[in-house]
Amino acid sequence: MSSSAAIRKVVSDLNKDLQRYGLVAWTAGNVSQRLADGKSFVIKPSGVKYDDLTPDQMVICDLDGKVLEGTLSPSSDTAAHAYIYRHMDWVNGVVHTHSNYASAWATAQKPIPCALTAMGDEFGGDIPLGPFALIGNDDIGKGVVETLKSSNSRAVLMINHGVFTIGESGIAAVKTAVMCEDVAKTMYIAAALGPIKRLEDSDINQLFARYQNVYGQPKDK
Ligand SMILES: [Zn+2]
Repeated sequence: MSSSAAIRKVVSDLNKDLQRYGLVAWTAGNVSQRLADGKSFVIKPSGVKYDDLTPDQMVICDLDGKVLEGTLSPSSDTAAHAYIYRHMDWVNGVVHTHSNYASAWATAQKPIPCALTAMGDEFGGDIPLGPFALIGNDDIGKGVVETLKSSNSRAVLMINHGVFTIGESGIAAVKTAVMCEDVAKTMYIAAALGPIKRLEDSDINQLFARYQNVYGQPKDK
């Protein structure tokens, strides 16, 4: 299997994970991952149902969103993914969904307040709002980059739209999208029960530092 075939399979499987985790309806949503050359990325084709996706349908684009390999049109969100890769060197995975609870917060134009230890761990603070932007130019990508470059969070709630997440890999960005929807749901239910008390910043900082550096198995094993 060539390296391009291997990454097509990885990205095809990660796109199917969006459906498996209940983050997407019909053909909405997409995952991309940067190739090892740093100058191109693999993304889902536009309008193909998740059950029908195959690795050979994946599209490879350059960082301007121009198709390099593939017979199908790339996702309609390709320009946003390309903008993010152009402006954030460390990002190798991008996910976009309209997952219900997170998109509800985005539509209510409310950041999700950091009031769960799981949020301190994963997001290191509130999950922020990004600007409203229409598809068709660099506005969405710019809104994601401008919001996330000054935040611990790797998820942003784009106003009246949905979620973008970023990560060191495609799977890291998918994990963040899953966790974002999970805490969005819990916080929605909590908000229905009464006023929310946000965690203290000092506690959030401790949670975030521990989870990012200590949680899980020792790194040298
Ligand atoms: Zn969208």
